[in-house]
Amino acid sequence: MPKYRIKVDKETCIGCGTCAALCPDYWEIGDDGKAQLKGGVTELVVEELGCNEEAKDSCPVNAITIEEVTE
Ligand code: SF4
Repeated sequence: MPKYRIKVDKETCIGCGTCAALCPDYWEIGDDGKAQLKGGVTELVVEELGCNEEAKDSCPVNAITIEEVTE
């Protein structure tokens, strides 16, 4: 069963809020005004992508990346 590593690059993020609006179960804007995954982390491994793919595709600066974890 593949898993996916979701990451946000806070240096690149402009804090537009699109990811949090489209995928609020996973994304929020942190105290620094930048996107983070729920729990305040910048990286998360999940089995189901759900709305994260839409969040990634909608980010205007491509700050979100998703890669398959093969191990
Ligand atoms: S959509 Fe992209 S730029 Fe906008 S808050 Fe989310 S990660 Fe940051």
